[in-house]
Amino acid sequence: MSPPVFRFAPSPNGYLHLGHALSALMNFDMARAAGGTFLLRIEDIDDSRCRPEFEGAIYEDLRWLGLTWQEPVRRQSGHFTDYRAAIAKLDVMGLIYPSFESRSEIARFVEVGEKSGVTFPRDPDGGIRYPGMNKSLPAKERERLIEAGAPYALRLDMAAAIALTGALTWDESGDKANVATAAEPELWGDVILARKDTPNSYHLSVMVDDAAQGVTHVVRGQDLFPSTSVHRVLQELLGFPPPHYHHHRLILDGEDRKLSKSTQATGLRELRAGGATAADIRRMVGLPEK
Ligand code: GLU
Repeated sequence: MSPPVFRFAPSPNGYLHLGHALSALMNFDMARAAGGTFLLRIEDIDDSRCRPEFEGAIYEDLRWLGLTWQEPVRRQSGHFTDYRAAIAKLDVMGLIYPSFESRSEIARFVEVGEKSGVTFPRDPDGGIRYPGMNKSLPAKERERLIEAGAPYALRLDMAAAIALTGALTWDESGDKANVATAAEPELWGDVILARKDTPNSYHLSVMVDDAAQGVTHVVRGQDLFPSTSVHRVLQELLGFPPPHYHHHRLILDGEDRKLSKSTQATGLRELRAGGATAADIRRMVGLPEK
C-alpha cells in the first residue's frame, strides 16, 4: 500500500488562528506517525476575499510552528480547468442545472412564503435550502436567459444524484471512532457547484483537489462534518476514491463561538508578537509536547 497523504487546506482570506494551528499540527503529526506525506493547499478560489499577504502569512506562520510540507503547494486558482471539467462530467450525467435567482431573491421568496405559513427547511449550516423555484424552467427559457447575459448558479440536482449513488457512508475516526457514518446529502438540497463568474465552489474544488493530490486522510474541523455528505456524493459521481475522515474538535472563544480570522487575541501572529513559542501554541490547542 502506498503511504498515506494528509493535507491542510486554508483559505488566504485572513490570518491563521489557534483553530488553524490545531488542524495543521494534527495533520502534520498524523502524517509523521503514519510515515505519510503532509501537503499544504491554498484554497484561493474566492478572489474577492483572498489576498496575497494572507497567503504569505500562512507560509510564515506554519513554518514558525515547525511544519514542512511537500512542494509545490497546490493553489486552487491555478486549476479552474480541472473544476470546469468536473462540472462538464456532471452535466453530461444530467445532474446540473442553472438557477437564476440572486441570494436576496431567494431570501425574499422564503420570507414571503414563511409569512403565509409555508416552512422552508434550512441546510446543516443554517442557510436556506434552495426552494427550487427555477428547477423546472424549460430548457429554452434557460438558454434565453443565459444568452441574455443573466447571472446564474449551476446547481447539483441532489435528488437525481442520490438516485444514482444510493445510500452512502464514510469512514470516520473523529468523535465517533471508526464507524461508518451515514451520509445525509438530502439535507443540503441542490447545492451550488459553480457560478457564472466563478467556475467552482468549495464543495467541488475540494473534491477535485483531494482526488488529484491522492489525499487518503482528511483531517479537519468538526464544522465541516456535515459537508462531508455532499463530498461523498460528488466522489461517487466523479469516480474518486473516498478518503478516510477525521473531524476534530473546534477551538472556541470565551463565549463558546468558533474562532474567527479577525479575532486578534487568538491570531498566531499576535501570539507570536506577544512572545509565545511554537511549543506554547501546541499546549494552548491541547496537543502533547514534541
Ligand atoms: N478551505 C477550507 C477552510 O479553510 C477547508 C477545506 C477542507 O479542509 O476540506 O475552511
